[in-house]
Amino acid sequence: MESYSCGPDYPILEITLGQALDRTAERFPHQDAVVARRQGIRLTYSQLREGAVKVARGLWGLGLRPGDRIGAWASNCVEWLLLQHATARIGTVLINVNPAYRSHELAFVLRKSHMKALFLHEADARSNYLEILNQARAGLECPLEHVVLLGTDSWHGMLEKGVDPPSLSLSANDAVNIQYTSGTTGSPKGVLLTHRNLVNNGWVMGWTLKLGERDRICVPVPLYHCFGCVLGSICATVYGAALVLPSPQFEPLATLEAVEAERCTVIYGVPTMFIAELDHPEFRRFDLSSLRTGIMAGAPCPIEVMKRVVNVMGCREMTIGYGQTESSPVITGSLTDDSLELRVSTVGRALPNTEVKIAGPGLGETVEVGEQGELCTRGYLVMKGYDEEPEATARAIDSEGWLHTGDLATMRPDGYFRITGRAKEMIIRGGENIYPREIEEFLYTHPKIADVYVVGLPDARLGEAVLAAVRLKAGETATEDSIRDFCKGRIAHFKIPQYISFVDSFPMTVTGKIQKYRIREREIQARGLEAAAAIKTA
Ligand code: AMP
Repeated sequence: MESYSCGPDYPILEITLGQALDRTAERFPHQDAVVARRQGIRLTYSQLREGAVKVARGLWGLGLRPGDRIGAWASNCVEWLLLQHATARIGTVLINVNPAYRSHELAFVLRKSHMKALFLHEADARSNYLEILNQARAGLECPLEHVVLLGTDSWHGMLEKGVDPPSLSLSANDAVNIQYTSGTTGSPKGVLLTHRNLVNNGWVMGWTLKLGERDRICVPVPLYHCFGCVLGSICATVYGAALVLPSPQFEPLATLEAVEAERCTVIYGVPTMFIAELDHPEFRRFDLSSLRTGIMAGAPCPIEVMKRVVNVMGCREMTIGYGQTESSPVITGSLTDDSLELRVSTVGRALPNTEVKIAGPGLGETVEVGEQGELCTRGYLVMKGYDEEPEATARAIDSEGWLHTGDLATMRPDGYFRITGRAKEMIIRGGENIYPREIEEFLYTHPKIADVYVVGLPDARLGEAVLAAVRLKAGETATEDSIRDFCKGRIAHFKIPQYISFVDSFPMTVTGKIQKYRIREREIQARGLEAAAAIKTA
């Protein structure tokens, strides 16, 4: 039996995101759409639609037109959601920018995306974003015409000067969103997604969770990422469920408070978030009895952590989802009424309208059930492509339409999948993807570094942590801190190596190829990380 499986067939929704919101606002006008707890803002679906229309008028008034790219560089807030809905209504493309990006990364995205407008908060407790933007723009050629500071006069002024857009004929197949995901080339690639990709993936996620308009989804995951903006925002919009944002950035305590105060029925998170919530000293104080289901995803999910979410957090119908930005994102998931064993130890099976196969190395033939290979998927969920990267797109999506995920997996005879490793060189630290090549290329700009290799080391809390093995130029000396200081403010905090080893040479094959797995093994042993390396995941 071959490792091929196809989820149940359902009609594909051929609607735009604007139509999805309109439908829900008509069906459930008074139902909560968004609760942004830190901002003290609550919007019903009719208010969310009104807000989206107002922001869309504002964007039109600025002169933004269908096809233009508009960036949102902000942590979780109501304005992010308004921009998501507003940009979709006028045929523009929302560019999600990771709020952790610093000058080096922001400059890259500004240039690459050709964005005409960027929305940001001037500053927050974490950073001064306007300063970072100015650093990134210095000497950079990019078509950025409008910088709008959220919550200030520039935002309100834009809303006041709004102009009604003409009636536009938008198609479900239009690109509506670009989400950056670090590429193996060392620079992030923009994943182009259509209304059809996103609305249907949101629908599929809700189908899996048996979601309805009475559900309230607690979303501590970031909105710039597909977990927040598709499985959170768009899924809620399709079903008329409420989206509860506990805090701008993840805080375990704020998340627990939000679940209790808002009687959330659904909770999302990457494994690191659930670990932080369960281990919080005040965890016992909260009444989390409203929780019914949720999704853990984004990184290998430890079986023991899943069991604690079910048994200790009391989230009886908890599930694991698996996917990636390029697949809108969700590919497989378990069902809320699957056995506990299936829900904690597998990533589920192929979801509606989704084909999945496990391909062998070489010619990519489908392997036998139980054998490991690369997980590939096909269907409505496959991205339009990488923005302006035809070669990378052709490498990711083959001539038969299969998206190659770069993840290694096995399929069981009952059609359930397990993720067993990665064919791609990627580190996932606390749910954030990191491509070693990107950090290596950045560290090569350090004047004292001759050679550097970056690998992930196991970490019980974060899943993985970044190690840089550095060979300095002859006669140079440096400290770990001086290398980290070099990174600060220029690359995102999560990419800054937690571990740095100074070495004289690297393990190599006879043909001179670096053996990263041996660097990893050596460091696990030297740093006593064997227990973290042995954690079992689904
Ligand atoms: P992203 O594009 O940021 O959503 O990251 C997608 C990658 O995260 C996948 O290609 C996997 O390597 C990993 N991933 C996502 N969900 C899971 C999961 N449930 N188990 C293991 N790895 C996962």
